[in-house]
Amino acid sequence: MPYFIEVVLPLALSKTFTYQVSEAEYQYIQKGMRVAVPFGKSKIYTGLVIDLHQNPPVLYQAKEIHQILDEIPVVNELQIAHWKWIADYYMCSVGEVFKSALPTGFLLESETIISAAKETEIDAKELSDSEFLIYQALQQQSSLKVDDIIAVLGKKNVFPILNAMLAKKALVLQEEVSEKYKPKLTRYIRLQEEFLQQEQLSELMEILSRAQKQRELVLHYFQLQAKERKPVSVKKLLETSGSTSAVVKSLVDKEIFEEYYIAEDRVAFEKDDDLSFNLSSAQQKAFDEINASFEENAVTLLHGVTASGKTEIYIKLIEDYIESGKQVLYLLPEIALTTQLVTRLTAYFGNQVAVFHSKYSNNERVEVWNQVLHNSEKAKIVIGARSALFLPFNDLGLIVIDEEHEQTFKQFDPAPRYHARDAAIVLAAQHKARVLLGSATPSLETYFNVKAGKYGLVELFERYGNVVLPEIYLVDLKDKYKRKRMTGHFSDELLEVMSESLGKGEQVILFQNRRGYSPFVECMTCGHVPQCPSCDVSLTYYKFKNQLRCHYCGHSIANPTHCHACQSVDLSTKGFGTEQIELELKTLFPNKVIGRMDQDTTRGKYGYEKIIDAFKNQEIDILVGTQMLAKGLHFDNVTLVGVMNADNMLNQPDFRSHERAYQMMMQVAGRAGRSEKRGKVMIQTYNPYHNIIQQVVSNDYAGMFKEQLYDRHNFKYPPYYRLIKLTQKHRDFDKLKEGSLWLYNVLVQQLQIPVLGPEEPAISRIRNEYIRTILIKIPTQQHLGNTKKTIQKVLNSFEAIAQYRAIKVTINVDNY
Ligand code: ADP
Ligand code: ZN
Ligand code: ZN
Repeated sequence: MPYFIEVVLPLALSKTFTYQVSEAEYQYIQKGMRVAVPFGKSKIYTGLVIDLHQNPPVLYQAKEIHQILDEIPVVNELQIAHWKWIADYYMCSVGEVFKSALPTGFLLESETIISAAKETEIDAKELSDSEFLIYQALQQQSSLKVDDIIAVLGKKNVFPILNAMLAKKALVLQEEVSEKYKPKLTRYIRLQEEFLQQEQLSELMEILSRAQKQRELVLHYFQLQAKERKPVSVKKLLETSGSTSAVVKSLVDKEIFEEYYIAEDRVAFEKDDDLSFNLSSAQQKAFDEINASFEENAVTLLHGVTASGKTEIYIKLIEDYIESGKQVLYLLPEIALTTQLVTRLTAYFGNQVAVFHSKYSNNERVEVWNQVLHNSEKAKIVIGARSALFLPFNDLGLIVIDEEHEQTFKQFDPAPRYHARDAAIVLAAQHKARVLLGSATPSLETYFNVKAGKYGLVELFERYGNVVLPEIYLVDLKDKYKRKRMTGHFSDELLEVMSESLGKGEQVILFQNRRGYSPFVECMTCGHVPQCPSCDVSLTYYKFKNQLRCHYCGHSIANPTHCHACQSVDLSTKGFGTEQIELELKTLFPNKVIGRMDQDTTRGKYGYEKIIDAFKNQEIDILVGTQMLAKGLHFDNVTLVGVMNADNMLNQPDFRSHERAYQMMMQVAGRAGRSEKRGKVMIQTYNPYHNIIQQVVSNDYAGMFKEQLYDRHNFKYPPYYRLIKLTQKHRDFDKLKEGSLWLYNVLVQQLQIPVLGPEEPAISRIRNEYIRTILIKIPTQQHLGNTKKTIQKVLNSFEAIAQYRAIKVTINVDNY
């Protein structure tokens, strides 16, 4: 009987693949181990074993695996089940989930390396043009990857050419699989066994009587050992003794010292023991209610106003769960923006916390992966953004999802396009764990689930330490402009409260949800607006660099001196962004230090941290920024928050724009007055009577919820309907138009539910690709799985049509 394994490859293929193994391999292999397998003509991939069986594949001859890469499974069965759910629900392949779940260090590279065959004499005249190009490239470089060759030739289909050259013995191939992850090793030193007894010490000193330095170092080693009672690293030994590595070496040579190596964890945190605190009575009450709610509900929402001390409640809960031996996952929308919180948690829990960070190196991620896999004391609590969900937890007790309303929990590109909050709830169910969702401005979906009795609810409506919520004032911009009370984009009222706060040495935050100087430049003679040549957007003006730049593809040009359409020099900038506000502030408050926080100023590795630290240390008086400012930051000395213009948030072409505008304004407002002094928030707007703005002023979440829900129901949106968005892209406008219409028509025929489109989105071309979207609205009472199956069938037939094959289709389930 032959033996087979079922393997997932890190590719967008819906199938798993069957490989043949020997009986010995079959006995050895377990589900969740990785294997290197051949695929296609010459590729080697790292695959994941998800099953073992004895059924030969029907449609193809099973290949043999190249090698087994693990001694124990690196992926557990809970994960495999969870990934299958993600693939199924978000309509992608398990391979895509596998690929994005594993640190790349675990996905062995199969790099086909090609070199010129040294022994063969080549007559260049006998080579075709393509062959000659490859031959030439290999004269300059001793070896090239297949990918390099594709670039050299400018086409994908290079295998036949390479095969032909191989046949002529002009090339040699070299398949190389290499483990990427190398644990970082630390060199330690210890005495050879024979000297370990106390009596041997004098003997040892005797031996070293004529080697003064060596003797001193051995004595020092004893002291260090006695004091620290832990292994002594060479580094530590040298640092504390002032001795040299030459001395260490002679002791090793004399077989007095012995060297050994321990894999060191790259990321270590110092625990600060002075951070203990007690919950306030309101926090304690919420804490007790959460625990009570967990008795009945797997998922509970903590709806707590900004600065109510939700973090402290999380900390106490986490403490209980890890004490009972469970693992805890703490999900955050973005790690980079929440360094304050990460610092707080790591300081409190010390080395029990592992941070899973996209900025971490591969090695660091592999380390966290292994710690979680072995349920190590070092990673009892994992803090991370959405991808931390894929770690090999085997005993999760609690998942905390902080700022659960944040849209960054939804992955856009590439697949899997999952929502981390929703996928976390499924993961928790597999572990029989509890989920705590936390927010001052819960998403409509979550609150809807609370109302429907699916989730528990705990409310905390007072700020910690008797701090009161800020007062919110509105400024009517229409009126201010009419009465000429504006200086640049600042109303007299905003300037007045700013001067007042700054005069008292307090800090100010200004929010403007656009970066750059102006979103566009307009010709006053003919109305022409410079556009990006590859995208369907106007170029944003940057005054400092005197440039126009595309926010979608990064294309930039020098700021034109005249209109490219009519040659007029009468050009004017329209609208404003953070850069313009910053410049105005410099003239309005010449003696104050102005900071700016947006995508343009936070690019470097510690971009955010630098600005946040400077503001925290009060080196900056006024901080202007985009929505980055709305993310859970805590600054004691900020008493005033100004919203420069509330209207562009309200006028987005998106069914969630009102909900988002509310959340964003409430969150930014929440940065004001977080300690003793009561904060002020001033919102400048052309629509002071807009319902959302009124709801912000009166802190009326319930009112906002009710009204938005009514709209969602009327216009067939979530939570009453589930959305699946199909996005199609192609460089050829007409082909795309035709293809998307075909797809739309067939979908309408096959599905008896609302299908909208095919629509040209607000930005209908990016990087020279035209875009069309189709939106499918599925009533929640309809069977989702069957609908998805039908959609998948239609997409399969679409792909089978030759002339549409080049149209890329992406599927986004629960589109955000
Ligand atoms: P939220 O996350 O709800 O916006 P935070 O957790 O940031 O609020 O708390 C706001 C501030 O109050 C922080 O500076 C925090 O350290 C402090 N704080 C909250 N609860 C306590 C407590 N029980 N003991 C001491 N300080 C607390
Ligand atoms: Zn013009
Ligand atoms: Zn562009």
